[in-house]
Amino acid sequence: MTEHPVKSSIEEIEWPAVPDPRASALLAILFQLERSQWWPAEKLEAAQFGQLQRLLAHARRSVPFYRERLKNAPTAPGSAFDLDSWREIPILRREDVQNAGDALISVDLPGSHGSTDEIFTSGSTGRAIRAVRTELWGLFWSAFTLRDHFWHRRDMNGKLATIRESGHGKAPYPDGAVSDNWGHASRLVFATGPSVSLNITSTVEQQVEWLRRENPDYLLTHPSIVHRLAEYCLEKGIQLPRLCQVETISEVLQPATRTLCQEVWGVPLVDMYTAREAGYIALQCPTAEHYHVQSEGIFVEVLNERGEPCKPGEIGRVIVTPLHNFAMPLIRYDIGDYAEAGEPCACGRGLPVLRRILGREQNMLIMPDGEARWPLLSSSDLQAMQARAPVRRYQFVQKSLESIELRLSTARPLTAKEQEALRDWVRDKFGHPFEVSLSFHDSLTGAEAGKFEDFISEIRR
Ligand SMILES: [Zn+2]
Repeated sequence: MTEHPVKSSIEEIEWPAVPDPRASALLAILFQLERSQWWPAEKLEAAQFGQLQRLLAHARRSVPFYRERLKNAPTAPGSAFDLDSWREIPILRREDVQNAGDALISVDLPGSHGSTDEIFTSGSTGRAIRAVRTELWGLFWSAFTLRDHFWHRRDMNGKLATIRESGHGKAPYPDGAVSDNWGHASRLVFATGPSVSLNITSTVEQQVEWLRRENPDYLLTHPSIVHRLAEYCLEKGIQLPRLCQVETISEVLQPATRTLCQEVWGVPLVDMYTAREAGYIALQCPTAEHYHVQSEGIFVEVLNERGEPCKPGEIGRVIVTPLHNFAMPLIRYDIGDYAEAGEPCACGRGLPVLRRILGREQNMLIMPDGEARWPLLSSSDLQAMQARAPVRRYQFVQKSLESIELRLSTARPLTAKEQEALRDWVRDKFGHPFEVSLSFHDSLTGAEAGKFEDFISEIRR
């Protein structure tokens, strides 16, 4: 699975290494994941159903919220899994999680799942939700973190740079924060190279200056940050000589960002789909730009408006059931995103394919006839915009069925002709004679947790 030497916990034993118990457990999970990724889809599904039955039985027995809700659920371990009665379990919405409070917490967590911690995650609207997670769940999180490193053949001796939410006042420019390892998952098993991090609230100039100074092998950050950094480096002719791969998390990746990253730095971009309350949902395939569902950790359904599973090429809501968090089971949880279901992958892995992750309902353009569209921008779209005016950053806000505001940060004030050209371009791009207003801003930043959205609809359907 990797050439990287495993850390030994036994005195005077270097090779083959004998790792400590937690590292051994992690390696044992990884050993299984290495095999199960090649299982046919049916075999993976059967194994998931077996685990789901255990989760359902536990939830019905020990989580007050589910007692009634799972009355008819297919819970008997060992019996055939009845997908029809599974699909009758109501979808768990974000509001349900908020309203349920402690009723979603197990009153009888098996001791071997370890201690629990809780986090709050805000999502893009509304109140934060609380998620309680076990140590065991953390072990699976670590396993998928390492799988991503293996899949994308990262050399863990290298230097990893991250620009992300670090907590208020943490990892500030100019020094950022320095660590002698790549974080919990990697450190547990391997001796790794160093990692450095910088707070996401730093400016693009500061980020680039810091990156040039740190000269990392890998960069992990949000897609919108990558886009901004790459544009800045393109404009100034800046290279990051050691950089060999960019990893993105936490926002919808626009196809244009992938292209730009390759153009400016000559490196591939690898995206991943995770949620703090649900864990790893999907990782990018090692051989393609689509994603593989992490079936060993989560059951994912992509459902159309009628609640039926989407066929390849169809777009639907992402409904997730993490398989291993028994402290606060999320069963058929609507994570709030949309994705496009994909065909089985040519790489041979049986893990289901998500072709694209499309973001949230409020990122959809609603046409005057009510049709919803995903306004993803390709690199040629962005070139077309740049050809009309020197735009640094942009954000579309649909104000009503007939009007769109284009928020802009520009290199200089735009002429009336440039403004009119942009308005025409927006109408052309979105296929309707929308009323387009322009507004100008010194900077455009993300709303919460540094997340930036290119397109926001203020229409509530
Ligand atoms: Zn694949």
